[in-house]
Formats: sequence, C-alpha cells, structure tokens
Amino acid sequence: MSFEMAEAQLLRRGVKLEEIAQIVFSLQVAYHDDLTMEQCLESVKAVLQKREVQYTLFTGIALDELAERKLLPEPLQAIMEADEPLYGVDETMALGITSVFGMIGLTSFGYLDKVKPEIIGSLNNEGENIHVFLDDLVAGLAAAASARIAHKHENAAVYSTY
Ligand code: MG
Repeated sequence: MSFEMAEAQLLRRGVKLEEIAQIVFSLQVAYHDDLTMEQCLESVKAVLQKREVQYTLFTGIALDELAERKLLPEPLQAIMEADEPLYGVDETMALGITSVFGMIGLTSFGYLDKVKPEIIGSLNNEGENIHVFLDDLVAGLAAAASARIAHKHENAAVYSTY
C-alpha cells in the first residue's frame, strides 16, 4: 500500500518511475552490455518498496507542498522559496535513501547532484512550484537503484563507480 502511495505522490509531483529508470539506465549502461530499461525500472521499484525510502519521500514531498501553500514557519518558508543553496537538508535527507546501498550509491548521488541530468534538472522551482526536496529525492532514488544493479552484477569484470 505504501509503495502505491509513494508512486502516486511522485506522479502527483510530476515524476514518473520510468523517468527515474531512464537515469539509472544512463548511469549503468556502460558497465552492463545486456542492461534493459525493464531491469532499471524493476530496480527503482525495489528501492521504493523499502519502508524507510517511502517515509523519506513522504517527508520531503510534504515539505515541498507545505512551502507551496506558504504554511511553513519562518525562516524555513523563505529558505524553501529561495531554494537557498546552503540549506543542504534536502541533500542530507536524500542521502538516507542512497546510503542503504553503500559507497557506489553515494558517489552516484554526488554525480547526479552536480550534473542534474534529465528529470532532475527540469525540477527547478518555477512559479508556484517548489521542488527543493524532490530533485534530491529523485537523485537519491536513481542512485540507489543504480547501486543496486551494480551490486547484483558483482561478478562483472568492471565495477561501476557511479
Ligand atoms: Mg534540492
């Protein structure tokens, strides 16, 4: 039930699981010749099955939505509206998702946070939309799903670093 809620909340905020799987594919395709989008989507879904991942998602999305409705106390409301670069709690929270899958997940998260590919980059705050937490949550999910694939292919000759 919580999995469906997590998927529905992501969708409500404009993120499809397929878009997260696309990032996973980009991260891992160089290391696995036979990698398919289906495997990437399956890995995203497996990460999203974890209770702690779901809870992290609910918390971050709730803060984004409360900020959009101007319901947060100051100074948090102003920080969220400005997407203050030094805030950092969004990255810290998202790292909780990734850390479940070890060091490979952490380096992937750092890469995604810097490069902001695909859906992560298009989640910038626009008008009434506030995605302070969502971009990092999506990066965290993608990094975790990517690390999961890397761990499952641990017999592969070349290890993925991100
Ligand atoms: Mg952010």
